[in-house]
Amino acid sequence: MACSPGNTRNQQLASTRERMGEHFTPNQLLGRTHTIGCVAVEITQKCNLDCTLCYLSEHSQAVRDIPIQEVFKRLDSILHHYGPGTSVQITGGDPTLRKRSELIEIVEYANKLGLHTALFTNGIAASRDLLTALAKVGLNDVAFHVDTTQERKGFVDEASLNAIREEYIERAKGLGLMIIFNTTVHTDNFKELPMLVGFFVQHADAVSFASFQLQAETGRGEWGARADIIDPITVKAAIEKTISKALPWEKVRIGHSDCHSYMPTLVADKQVYSVVDDAQLFAQFIEEFKHIQTTRQHGTAQIIWDYSKALLARPKWIWKLAKATSSKLFEMRSSLFKSKGRVHKLSFFVQNFMDANALQQDRIDACSFMVMTADGPVSMCKHNAERDEHILKPLTYTDRHGQVKQYQPLGERYKQNNIIPIRQISDTTTPSSLSAKALTARDKRHHPAKSV
Ligand code: SF4
Repeated sequence: MACSPGNTRNQQLASTRERMGEHFTPNQLLGRTHTIGCVAVEITQKCNLDCTLCYLSEHSQAVRDIPIQEVFKRLDSILHHYGPGTSVQITGGDPTLRKRSELIEIVEYANKLGLHTALFTNGIAASRDLLTALAKVGLNDVAFHVDTTQERKGFVDEASLNAIREEYIERAKGLGLMIIFNTTVHTDNFKELPMLVGFFVQHADAVSFASFQLQAETGRGEWGARADIIDPITVKAAIEKTISKALPWEKVRIGHSDCHSYMPTLVADKQVYSVVDDAQLFAQFIEEFKHIQTTRQHGTAQIIWDYSKALLARPKWIWKLAKATSSKLFEMRSSLFKSKGRVHKLSFFVQNFMDANALQQDRIDACSFMVMTADGPVSMCKHNAERDEHILKPLTYTDRHGQVKQYQPLGERYKQNNIIPIRQISDTTTPSSLSAKALTARDKRHHPAKSV
């Protein structure tokens, strides 16, 4: 059940509350501060990698990019369903394989609508120059997917991939973008999780968000379902093991509790501290301040201004927050002393996608992560399970000159002979020798066609 569109913010929030059902708990952000967690817009189905756990379809590489007018329409639809400030993932495939001028136009358009944009990329073609151009037209975040499922040539484990992660951090640093890393957790890299968490903590001055996505059997990926060891509980335990302390998970809820766990933390002197320890206090806070719908899109100054005004109108909250803050500062005192007061924000996210053949309706109903399709928003896990129904659908659109046109996802040649008119890998940008090295041997055989 997708959220029904509403004309006002209150209607959109009410619609979200309705579909959340029993998951609209007192500490649930959806339906209070957020109408949705995020919405993906897939601007291409093509990719320059072929991950062993890829969610794309076997036909993806042959699918033509949807017209830019259709992308704009989907962005309009996100605004209509979920309102300004909604987090939008500009994704694919790899969105950097879209024509550069069109990618820039798409981000600019989303920004003008007041949406919060994030580029989701494997980073290979996300050069400093491209990121700079995108930041100029309003890109807010960049999320790099780097892990061993990509089988990048010469990088045998997660530890060796840190060289690529460091290069990507350098490319994005100083552009005003929030830097995110996505890691797929699977049997072979599970033992490396503590090392990875340590890496993100070490780089908390630049990296603000570390998302761990558990192996799921969906899409063209060849590794299939996860082993028992891969579980939200074991992944959270691995994070805690690295930082040598238990974290108060589930104090902040966003979406269904079986799907995501969100842990905002502060890092000082490489030590990690939870932000929200008291679920009751947090629940009271988001209830009393839910009228503030200011988002990151409005800027930090506006957020501070709006909350300051609201606090002055509720003086008891000044006392409550001062008490919670001083207790946290006391807990952090030694690290704060050593870091000379420097503190960084680092959020951990554990994402538990469903297998395509084991979808659970209540999780789909309370989903916080949608894909915008030609027919409206669809839960990400459901979309991945029925991907071909969406990506192989012909569309009618009006081009820039007002001409009504037809979009056919597959060329006749592919339909008749299963031949994929794939671009040569040399057509994609390889901004440095390191990235060139990162292209896999699998790129060259991309993609053995299967029957339509
Ligand atoms: S980076 Fe990997 S998972 Fe993402 S679209 Fe490309 S092949 Fe699929």
